[in-house]
Amino acid sequence: MRIVVDLNRCQGYAQCVYLAHEIFKLNGAEALTYEPNPDDARRLQVERAAAACPVQAIMIDRLDGAERGAPS
Ligand code: SF4
Repeated sequence: MRIVVDLNRCQGYAQCVYLAHEIFKLNGAEALTYEPNPDDARRLQVERAAAACPVQAIMIDRLDGAERGAPS
């Protein structure tokens, strides 16, 4: 699976870090880093983290269709 975090939107609330610390990490107060291609086994964890983000900065699988073009 693929995830993208809008770092302009992210306010460093760290909800995602609490819920999926293998994937999201805060370095200092507001510098979020993350694993952009986590294993599908982590999907539920990532979805919970995305749902918990107060500013909806975490997007899941948004790029796949756009990059490859929609199937006809
Ligand atoms: S929960 Fe949202 S705002 Fe908070 S650190 Fe994660 S992505 Fe950023």
